[in-house]
Amino acid sequence: MKRAWDSRFIEEVQRRLEGTTIAHFIDGNFVESVSGETFETLDPATNRPLARVARGGEEDVDRAVRAARRAFDEGPWPRMPARERRRYLERVAELIEKYADELAVLECLDTGQVMRIIRGGQVPRAAANFRFYAEKAEAAFDGRSFPVDDRFLYYTFRQPVGVAGLITPWNTPLMLATWKLAPCLAAGNTCVLKPAEWSPLSAWMLARIFAEAELPPGVVNVVQGYGEEAGAPLVAHPGVQLISFTGETTTGKIIMRTGAETLKRYSFELGGKSPAIVFADADLDRALDGVIFQIFSLNGERCTANSRLLVERPVYAEFVERVVARARKIRVGHPLDPEAEVGPLIHPEHLTRVEAFVEEAKREGARVLAGGHRVGSEGNYYAPTVLEVRPGMRIEQEEVFGPVLGVMPFDDEDEAVRIANGVRYGLAAYVWTRDVTRAHRLARRIEAGMIWINSHNVRHLPTPFGGMKESGIGREGGDYSFAFYTEEKSVMVPLGEHPIPRFGKEGS
Ligand code: NAD
Repeated sequence: MKRAWDSRFIEEVQRRLEGTTIAHFIDGNFVESVSGETFETLDPATNRPLARVARGGEEDVDRAVRAARRAFDEGPWPRMPARERRRYLERVAELIEKYADELAVLECLDTGQVMRIIRGGQVPRAAANFRFYAEKAEAAFDGRSFPVDDRFLYYTFRQPVGVAGLITPWNTPLMLATWKLAPCLAAGNTCVLKPAEWSPLSAWMLARIFAEAELPPGVVNVVQGYGEEAGAPLVAHPGVQLISFTGETTTGKIIMRTGAETLKRYSFELGGKSPAIVFADADLDRALDGVIFQIFSLNGERCTANSRLLVERPVYAEFVERVVARARKIRVGHPLDPEAEVGPLIHPEHLTRVEAFVEEAKREGARVLAGGHRVGSEGNYYAPTVLEVRPGMRIEQEEVFGPVLGVMPFDDEDEAVRIANGVRYGLAAYVWTRDVTRAHRLARRIEAGMIWINSHNVRHLPTPFGGMKESGIGREGGDYSFAFYTEEKSVMVPLGEHPIPRFGKEGS
């Protein structure tokens, strides 16, 4: 049995948190805020404080950026051979594996995500992110050559950009931080990570791992704190060139404005309202598993959740009935309960927001088929919810980021595409059909950055991840991350004495 499931181990991890201040990690040291201020991070299962966290502000961000700048301008990191950076990243992956159980317990306690997903998927993925980019470290700077003819050779190569600001949301903080850190570091940049204020613990644990891996000081810095107080100064800082941001679309827009003065390069992974489209000819058993998992896993707090289910009319009633029956049977429980499938939502404020969405949907005429209420009297538990909705309702248009599925019938492919594309988001889409031609046609017609056919969200790390429309800008993953984290330079070399116009020369 993994220790993450052992109650004595869990108690030990919890005890160690009590009385601990979750510090910033700046220039290789764990430090408190210049102001000395802290805030509490809550346990979503009880809303009791888990630990106190340093509340970062402008001065802390400035110290962190200066440390990252020094590490980039003067330190060994961007200058060392790529294979040495590779070894550091491999060491980080090994340490994530070594501390996998502690990381998993901290992440579950802090986010309310359930252990089976965190220990089973997210923590191994965090290690895999580092291993994947460790292997790629030596190819991060590959370029292209353009041997035009015998007269000229053009080629490109890449270099690290500088200091990156990495800003992550609260839903899967460990996985998302490593997803940004690994390519950023493999490409020789230094960085400041600003984790979300509602789930700061795994970034702190990662900082301990970076310290143990003996990364040169300043290469990775972590500043804890609120978005407006610590995130905004990071975006505005003139010492930062890159901002990789994952979070809400509205925050992305604010960040773009904040960084405009210093002309930042952005990678934006934003919100989603992804459709699952189930045709009558689909393998309905598999579609059922896929749809249920893709909305209720990670408590529905998942950017690629299929929060809209479109079902072809001939199988609509039967399929929705099966969805409802399954939703009612989902095991809602404590994040550390090995049997739990859905845990508490991250924060009481978020619970109130999810609840308000459902109440408004009811007023707009949505029919509650399952759930639609809180569970228990303690913590932020919300029942897996299925609503029958209509295109255009607010619940059908806006990201709820909770365990709430809206279902709708459609009559033909054109109508399905119209509904699917009728939102401002375009992150993912899931198409369930046995008709191969139709599946590929829909992949072209649907406005989404990622389309899964007859599958839930199965990631393959070399492939691009990202959204269209208001779901994001750019792609991360594989070499696509290096396009963001490196500067590509173009070089031209003449292969002989090509004619050069002779301005100012007599007789020319
Ligand atoms: P959020 O936008 O509220 O916060 C994300 C991060 O931005 C936090 O660290 C926050 O402190 C920081 N922030 C807030 N205001 C800021 C500001 N003015 N300047 C700089 N930083 C600021 O998002 P959230 O509520 O933490 O996360 C949920 C959102 O994340 C959802 O919309 C979800 O779809 C999205 N998300 C997207 C992906 C993806 O890959 N597309 C993945 C996971 C989550």
